[in-house]
Amino acid sequence: METRAKKYPLALPELGKLERKYLMEAFDSGWISSKGKFILEFEKGFANYIGRDHGISTSNGTTALHLALASLGIGPGDEVIVPDLSFVSPANMVRLSGARPVLADSNPYYWGVDVNTIEQCLTRKTRAVLVVHLYGHPVDLDPILELCNSRGLDLIEDCAEAHGAMYKGKKVGSFGRVSCFSFFGNKLLTTGEGGMCLTDDEALAEKMRLLRDHGADRNRQFWHPVIGFNYRMTNLQAAVGCAQLKSLPKRIRKYQRIGHAYTRRLDSSKFAPHPEMKWAECVFWMYTLLVVGINEKRRDRIIEQLKKDGIETRPIFYPISSLPPYQKERTNNTVAKSLSKRGISLPTYASLTNDDINYICDRLQAICS
Ligand SMILES: *Cc1c(COP(=O)(O)O)cnc(C)c1O
Repeated sequence: METRAKKYPLALPELGKLERKYLMEAFDSGWISSKGKFILEFEKGFANYIGRDHGISTSNGTTALHLALASLGIGPGDEVIVPDLSFVSPANMVRLSGARPVLADSNPYYWGVDVNTIEQCLTRKTRAVLVVHLYGHPVDLDPILELCNSRGLDLIEDCAEAHGAMYKGKKVGSFGRVSCFSFFGNKLLTTGEGGMCLTDDEALAEKMRLLRDHGADRNRQFWHPVIGFNYRMTNLQAAVGCAQLKSLPKRIRKYQRIGHAYTRRLDSSKFAPHPEMKWAECVFWMYTLLVVGINEKRRDRIIEQLKKDGIETRPIFYPISSLPPYQKERTNNTVAKSLSKRGISLPTYASLTNDDINYICDRLQAICS
């Protein structure tokens, strides 16, 4: 058996000279907290990149989600439809806001929620629909937007895994009333920790800025008309973000090349590849596949065996309805459950070479046969 000393992490940030230069510039300026030129520059630059009028940077993607919900006045008595198959953060923030997260099932082809699964969750209490563009792949937004518009519901997009992904030629994050991003270390654009809310609604943007900063009146010091948070990003983080934004389009192309290479290389009788619908341009944040005909135990063994070959992988998310704080939510999300048992995410980062991909695929195919 071929053994390699090389280790393959699941994700790796791409940090270059420009990140270091801007970071040192922020450091040397003394503006290391949440004031400084990089913050506005990053907010403007990122909003402009996605195609929105306003960017409100935050301390991370989770606080961005909470800020979005709070600014829309979502609270006790309200219900927000969230995907069952997702990172837990959106459901947690709906709970934290005092509202009830209603867990919708996945579409079997692109894994995010589809309009039918959302419709089944609607009640008189539904206030908003929070979609997640899972693993870099957009959800089918047109019918969801139509449903939201006809029912007067707010659409919130969680784009934490899909910076630059396109739905019918338009970037995700440009559709929701508010769209939220994360800049955690393993995301396509990182500031270490960090996040942002985007919107075209000026009043809502102003409200988010107010709530982000202790609810402090801008014209009267220490006057707090409402209860707010401290969800601010630092100038140091924003400096890194400004540099990362410049290389983002190139990085996305690298991830797409890697995604397509995995799909080409893997035996399609053994694996269902990472989704890519005709109407979507996926950015392959963490190339994720399904192994055909396995159960959860077998999947976990495959992950263990890959680890011995120096290949770090991870299971797809567990349905949120299976986690202890959410087990009381009555759901019958068979698609999410079925995807969750069979899914594995493979190493995906900019410096991964074709050789690396070949080795990872060889090991995976050998273990699975
Ligand atoms: C990463 C992620 C978040 C949260 O981001 P943090 O910056 O780690 O708080 C939220 N939603 C989804 C779908 C994510 O993948």
